[in-house]
Amino acid sequence: MRENRCCPGGYEIAFGPVPSRRLGMSLGINNIPPKTCSYNCRYCRLGGTDRTTVTRETFYSPADVVGAVAGCVAQLRHRRETPDFLTFVPDGEPTLDENLGWEIQQLHALGIRIAVISNASLLSDPRVRRDLAGADWVSVKVDTVDDETWRTVNRSRRDLSLQGILEGIRRFTDDFHGHLATETMLLQGMNDQEDCLEAVARFLREIAPDRAYLAIPTRPPTDPAVRAPSEEAVIRAHAVFCKHLPSVEYLCSLPDRTRRPADLAPE
Ligand code: SF4
Repeated sequence: MRENRCCPGGYEIAFGPVPSRRLGMSLGINNIPPKTCSYNCRYCRLGGTDRTTVTRETFYSPADVVGAVAGCVAQLRHRRETPDFLTFVPDGEPTLDENLGWEIQQLHALGIRIAVISNASLLSDPRVRRDLAGADWVSVKVDTVDDETWRTVNRSRRDLSLQGILEGIRRFTDDFHGHLATETMLLQGMNDQEDCLEAVARFLREIAPDRAYLAIPTRPPTDPAVRAPSEEAVIRAHAVFCKHLPSVEYLCSLPDRTRRPADLAPE
């Protein structure tokens, strides 16, 4: 259950606001039922994917999504706590919502910037690219550009193709005028090898993100065998990315720091 300071207690479409490492105070939007995703990442902090799907559909009434967010924003404004961002960051993949583009357009009327945190797996679909283009800030996941590693780490559905996704990301970024962030989760022995990181960094250079984020698992992952890389490996990854990209940042504390994972904001 996510905290909702607007209407505490229930399962909410709008939740928070929460302090976000990237977005300031962020009001979260849960436009997808829990753990409905196109991936089943080994490192997912939400547990195994209940429903793996690549089919876009209407999960909640789009008017309800917009209404819930608008109601929450009205209460926050009344308390002079207007959030910095409205962020689509459900417990699943937000672009599976076929009404995402409409919802983004409607929410712009609230005058608050809109962010979407996506695993990018549906970006080969031009309708998804069009929907995301309406946001002000978009994060796309690129954990690897190697097919075998991708299947191991992200455990995608068989009907997805990594090459199709990477091409979709290229096409999206060609036309996107907002702030583009990328997110790469580092896992010990899976994608933290130098050649693997070099290949990811070269791809990211092509799409020229405003900022590339490196992350490590900070909460118990779905697969208990998953390990965060050593501090040395994280530092090496940062150095490899910095060779190719002008703006690289850690999305997490390093493994040996004392800050507890529970202290970290969700995004
Ligand atoms: S894409 Fe995100 S929500 Fe989906 S399985 Fe991976 S980490 Fe979990």
